[in-house]
Amino acid sequence: MRALIVGAGVGGLGAALGLRAAGHETVVYEQAPDLREGGAAVTLWSNGTGILAELGVSLEGVGARIEVLEQRDHDGRLLLSVDVGRAAAHYGHPHVCLPRRRLLERLAQSVPQEVLRYGRRCLAVEVGEAAITFEGDERETGDVVIGADGRGSAVRQALWDHDPAEATGWVTWQGVTAIPTDITGSARGVMFVGPAGLCGLMPAGEGLLQWWFDQRMDPAASRPSSPLAMLREHFGGWAGPVKDVLDAVSDQDVGFFPHVRHPVPRVWGKGPVTLVGDAAHSFPPTRAQGANQALEDAWALSAVLGVGQGDVAGALRTYERRRSPKAGFVARSAGREDTNKYRPWMTRFMPDGLVSRFYVHWLGRASDYLR
Ligand SMILES: Cc1cc2nc3c(=O)[nH]c(=O)nc-3n(C[C@H](O)[C@H](O)[C@H](O)COP(=O)(O)OP(=O)(O)OC[C@H]3O[C@@H](n4cnc5c(N)ncnc54)[C@H](O)[C@@H]3O)c2cc1C
Repeated sequence: MRALIVGAGVGGLGAALGLRAAGHETVVYEQAPDLREGGAAVTLWSNGTGILAELGVSLEGVGARIEVLEQRDHDGRLLLSVDVGRAAAHYGHPHVCLPRRRLLERLAQSVPQEVLRYGRRCLAVEVGEAAITFEGDERETGDVVIGADGRGSAVRQALWDHDPAEATGWVTWQGVTAIPTDITGSARGVMFVGPAGLCGLMPAGEGLLQWWFDQRMDPAASRPSSPLAMLREHFGGWAGPVKDVLDAVSDQDVGFFPHVRHPVPRVWGKGPVTLVGDAAHSFPPTRAQGANQALEDAWALSAVLGVGQGDVAGALRTYERRRSPKAGFVARSAGREDTNKYRPWMTRFMPDGLVSRFYVHWLGRASDYLR
């Protein structure tokens, strides 16, 4: 079987690895001239790291293990400490935070280079023919087309004829920078919450700190000319490490990531065409599951296409129906943006031990891979 994959992000590269392992000829078409290594860091939970290990992708020497997640008030007072290491031990796979570019490098190194075709932008898909038209009027045909082309997916456009993304009214300002704080070299992620929003800090390995600020923002509003000045105004009086970040970075370091969510239908493909990752189900990064759910898709898709090629369309609908409940659960959880909301009183009802146990359960609910 010849599988044409559009997009060399986490979902597309993961699907390429899985489908090649299942014995299929696979080509990945990426619009950019090289790997798109932008973005800050990503957190891979036990579901993501377990699937990567199964795909033969090593994370040795990159990223930082995450064992504890803390929630603190904006003045630094500890509200909640969650032992997420408990879930890692339960499922037998670690949680790792690493720069997005490191994850893409590791995935791309595991795929033979001739599989990756850069500078090929998909413009249209003929669904019945499993054919793709690229910029420059080139056309390729295969047995199956997999749209792994992210939030603004051209493949989804061909299937659904509309973009279902809705802005949630929240945005992230973020980066990954070498900033020496007591969190940088630890196994501890800390979320500071306050009336202005949330500041999250996570170690990302190599002396790097992932930092992000989540804020409400009218989707129609224009971005401030100096995001840093705006962040300093709103978060400048917060606890020590938050102030350290705002002192250490410049406007050039501040990336912008607006939050959107999709409704997740039961079936998201047609005939020999399907979707993986953000193309199928974009959601805000509040549960840090974007890359993990893309890997879950890649793993599930490879499993259904690995068992026989007779009825490709039937296998693709099976994959979508299997993945839809878990991807939909994560999309709804993340779409609520509740981790960003300032409700410190809620932590009074949440003993640390209970939340740590609940997280084991939550991760299992979010995953088809973890048993
Ligand atoms: C540059 C970038 C930065 C990001 N930063 C963050 C972040 O900081 N935090 C976060 O939570 N998530 C971020 N994400 C999203 C995160 O990577 C995804 O949620 C997750 O990894 C799932 O990825 P995906 O493979 O489904 O989609 P993506 O990671 O979006 O990858 C899609 C790929 O498809 C390519 N593509 C798009 N359209 C076409 C086309 N028409 N033809 C050919 N190729 C196409 C894109 O160039 C891209 O390489 C970012 C994505 C990108 C592309």
